[in-house]
Formats: sequence, C-alpha cells, structure tokens
Amino acid sequence: MKIDSISSWLPNFNSNSEPLVIAGPCSAESLDQMLTTANALKNIPAVKIFRAGIWKPRTRPNNFEGVGEIALPWLTEVKKQSGLLTTTEVATAKHVELCLKHGVDILWIGARTTANPFSVQEIADALKGVNIPVMIKNPINADLQLWIGAIERLNNAGINKIIAIHRGFSVADKLEFRNDPLWRIPMELKVKFPELPLICDPSHITGDRELIQKVCQKAMDLNMNGLIIETHPTPESAWSDAAQQVTPERLKTILSQLSIKTEHSNNANFEAQLNNLRHQIDRLDNELLHTLKHRKDVVEKIANAKIEQKITALQRNRFDQLMKERIDAGKSLGLEELFIKEIFDAIHDQSVKLQTDLFERSKK
Ligand code: PEP
Ligand code: MN
Repeated sequence: MKIDSISSWLPNFNSNSEPLVIAGPCSAESLDQMLTTANALKNIPAVKIFRAGIWKPRTRPNNFEGVGEIALPWLTEVKKQSGLLTTTEVATAKHVELCLKHGVDILWIGARTTANPFSVQEIADALKGVNIPVMIKNPINADLQLWIGAIERLNNAGINKIIAIHRGFSVADKLEFRNDPLWRIPMELKVKFPELPLICDPSHITGDRELIQKVCQKAMDLNMNGLIIETHPTPESAWSDAAQQVTPERLKTILSQLSIKTEHSNNANFEAQLNNLRHQIDRLDNELLHTLKHRKDVVEKIANAKIEQKITALQRNRFDQLMKERIDAGKSLGLEELFIKEIFDAIHDQSVKLQTDLFERSKK
C-alpha cells in the first residue's frame, strides 16, 4: 500500500510535532450554525479541518437524516470565511459526485458504510482518477479485516491520501462508552501499516462530552496522529448526537489540557534508562517462555502417568481449584483478576491439548 503522509498534502501542518484536529458539528443544520461554529474554530490553531455531516446514516427511519445537498454551498462558505478545509461523509456514488462538484476538500466514509464492501467499492469506483483525501472510519463491528479491506479498495482506486479513523465498535455489552474502543484493533492496524495516518474520534467512542478529554489523552498516549471531535455552538440543542458534542470553547480547553507525547526522545539518559528497562523485559519474557516449556514437560509426564493408570485426561475439580488458587495468588501480587484468568485459561487449554494429543497417540 502506498500512503502519503498528512503533511505532504495538508498545508501548514507538521505531523511530527502536533496532532491533526478536525472539528465541527455532527450534522449541518443551517448556514448560520455552520458559520458560527467555523468562525469560532478558526481561532484554535490546532484545528485544520471543518467537519459536518450532511447525509446522516440513522439506525431507524424517521429520524433526522441530514439536510442533504443544500448544505454543500454552506461548506463552501465555511471555507471562504474561515480558511478551514472541509469534509463530509459520503455513502454513495451520487454523494461523491455532488461533493466533487462543490469542491469539498476531504471525504469520509462512515462506520456503517465501511462495513459494506459493495458500498465501499461503489465509492472507490466513483473516485477513480480523482486525487482527493479520504478518511475511512472503522466498521461498526470489531472486524479489522473489513477495515483494511475498505482502505485497500480506496487505495486500489488510486487514492493515497488516506486517514483511518478509530470511532470504536458496537458491542453487545456496553460498559463505559457508546462504542467500545477495543484499542488493540487500531493498534494492530498501526503495526500492519505504519505509514497510514490514524486518528481518533472520541465523540463517537464515548457518546458523552464529559468523557471526551480522557479518550483524547489515551489516543495521544497511543501515538495516534490526530482527533476528530464533534463541536456545536449549542450542543444540547443539536439535531443529532447532542450528548457528545462540545462547544468550540470547551474544545479549546480539552486541547490545551492534553499532554502530547513524542515517540522518541533526544535525552540520552532517558534513552539509556529505557534500553536498560527493555533488556529487563526481554529477560523476563525469556524466563516466562522457559517456565512454559518446563511446565509443558511436567504436563507430559502427568499425561503419561494418567495413560498408564487409565484415568481421564481432564479432572474438572482440579482445574476449578487451580484457577481459584491462581487468581487469588495473582490478586495478592497486585495483578488484575481478568488478566490472570485469561492467561491461565490459555495455559490450561494448551495443557488439555497436550494431554489429549498424547492420549490419542497412545491408542495407535
Ligand atoms: C459521524 O461522524 O457523524 C458519524 C455518523 O459517525 P460514524 O460513522 O462513526 O457513526
Ligand atoms: Mn455524530
């Protein structure tokens, strides 16, 4: 995949020293609402791009579905008055055609659309030969391959100004947030495609303006390249996503309170200290592996003894007892219960497999 860095196409932006910030309302409501927002945002230097949804994908019919194409000239006016680049969501070839006609600077593909390869391909086909930046949100379901597939479809159509947006995933058991961030998924994307810019959408992750600050910080701590934050002059009366939008003033505070980390430091002492600690981790991981190998040898001895005595591979009580003891011991060492449980589940699964494999072979 060939992807251009954001600074190669976004004027006045240095991706090494600052997060990219995109802000603006969930939905375009009126020219006045757009201009009031944009004219406040243009005074926040970190904000480079103005967002507003004009076609809104709604879960149920008869909700507000966006004002539609009448808002395209409003985006043009926003750009003229604020100097900000503009972006909106596209879900069909027709949307793409209209956006291109009205000079929208950047397009984004929403989470529901990313989940549908037919729609993504339709958008990619409509963009052949057009050199416009496209942002691709993760699909609503926790499927990294589907996200990668959408990125590849756009890239195959010749788009290389791509940004991935992490907006969380729809899960059955909602805990703290509207959408579960499942941070490991965007991190895996980053490992697979290090050159692909990745930004976070704390608005759709949290669904709650009070939680936005901490999710922004987490995204920065994970070295994400930017943030897209829904911003409205009077959030409580917004026509969509009212609970999660913030005023431009609040956005300014959120951004000013962020602690921005860099991936590497110029401080030689710090680098030396980090290296030393990493060696300790390498040594400990190696010890863990040797312990697991040692454990495997003992499991095999147990299996052979059971085969000899003709007793079953698994004794349920022993496992329940073992798990309880390990969790208690782990907890008293200050380790997280769920972590210990997951590790010993995996270790135990492996033991059962080793034993049943040996049982199987002993019959031949
Ligand atoms: C949006 O950005 O307003 C939107 C509809 O987001 P998502 O596709 O992430 O739900
Ligand atoms: Mn929204």
